[in-house]
Amino acid sequence: MNVLVLSHTDVARLLPMEACVEVMAGALRATSQGGAVLPLRSVVWMPDRTGMIGLMPGFLEQSDPPKSLGLKVVSIFPGNHAAGYDSHQGVVMLFDTRYGYPLAIMDASSITAIRTAACSGVATRALARDDAGDLAILGSGVQARTHLAAMRAVRTLRRVRVWSRTPANAQRFAAESPVPVEVMPTARAAVDGADLICTTTAAREPVLEGAWLAPGAHVNAVGACFAATRELDTAAVARARLVVDRTESAINESGDFLFARRDGAIGDDHILGELGDLLLGRFTGRRGAGDITLFKSLGIAIEDLASAHYIYTQAIAQGAGISVPLGPDPQPHP
Ligand code: NDP
Repeated sequence: MNVLVLSHTDVARLLPMEACVEVMAGALRATSQGGAVLPLRSVVWMPDRTGMIGLMPGFLEQSDPPKSLGLKVVSIFPGNHAAGYDSHQGVVMLFDTRYGYPLAIMDASSITAIRTAACSGVATRALARDDAGDLAILGSGVQARTHLAAMRAVRTLRRVRVWSRTPANAQRFAAESPVPVEVMPTARAAVDGADLICTTTAAREPVLEGAWLAPGAHVNAVGACFAATRELDTAAVARARLVVDRTESAINESGDFLFARRDGAIGDDHILGELGDLLLGRFTGRRGAGDITLFKSLGIAIEDLASAHYIYTQAIAQGAGISVPLGPDPQPHP
C-alpha cells in the first residue's frame, strides 16, 4: 500500500487562499449540522515549557467531500521565529474511511498557516461591515502573512497597517508584502480607526485593548490558543459580539474568553455561537454598522481534515506529491 506524501510547496500550490475560504465555510457548516466527531486537543508540554506537541484527531462528514478521517500532529515552539523555524511543525494524516489505511501525509505548517487565516476570512465575510477595508495586523509572523492574504480575499482593502513587537520584523513584513503596508510604532497606532483587526501574536498578555476599538470594527483574534494566554484585554472581549470556532474549545482553551469571564465582565452567554451556526443563519452576528464583532479562533481538527481532503483530491487529479510504499498490500481471502 502506498501513501501520498505532500510537502509544504505542494500544499501551498494546491490550497490557494480563495479556495480554502470556501472549503472552511463548508466544513464549519457541516460541523454545525452534526457532521463532525471532534474531541478537544491532547497536549503534551516539555517540562521546561519551551515547546509542546498537540494531537488533533477528527472525523468530518459532509456532502462534498463525503467523509474525512485523520489527525494533525503538531509541535508548537513559540520561540522559533527568531531562529528561522516555523513555530508550528508537523504532519496532517488522512485515512481511508472504508478500510482505514493511510491515504496521505502532508506538511502541517502550511496547512495550519492557510486554513487558520481562511477561517478568519470566513468570519470576516460573515461579521465585518461590507465596506470594511482599513486593516490592522498585530504581529508579523506566519499568521500575519496568511491573514493579509485572507483579508484581501474577502474584502477590498483601502489601507493596511502592521505593528509587531520587534520593529525589524514588521519592516520585513511590509517589504515583502504584495500591497503597501504602513509600519506603526505601537499596537494602538495600528488599530486606531481600523475596521478590520487581526491579532496574530504569540503574546501571553494583552496586545489589544478594548478602549482602542472603533465602533463597527471586526476583530479576528487568532494568536492566544491556550487558557493561560491572551491577546485581548477584558474590555475588548466584553465590548464585542463574540463568535467562536467551537464553544467547547473556547470555554476550555481560550484565555481571551476565560480571563474576561474571570474578571466578571462576561458570562458563558457572551458567546453568541459558533461560526458554522452563524453561516447557517441560526443567530445574528452583526446587528448594525456600529457593532464591534469578534471572532475568537482556536483552530479545530476539522479545518485540517477538510483542507487535507481538498489537497489530496487536487493532488490525485494533478499527479502531485510522492507516492511511498508503506503498509502491506491487502491479501484477498481465497
Ligand atoms: P510566528 O512565530 O510566525 O510569529 C509570532 C509573532 O508573535 C511574531 O510576530 C512575534 O513578534 C509575535 N510575538 C511573540 N511573542 C510576543 C509577545 N510577547 N508580545 C507581542 N508579540 C509577540 O507564529 P505564527 O504566526 O505561526 O502564530 C502566531 C500565533 O498564532 C501563535 O500564538 C500561534 O500559536 C497562534 N496560532 C493560532 C492558530 C489558530 O488556529 N487559532 C493556528 C496557528 C497559530 P516579533 O516577531 O515582532 O517579535
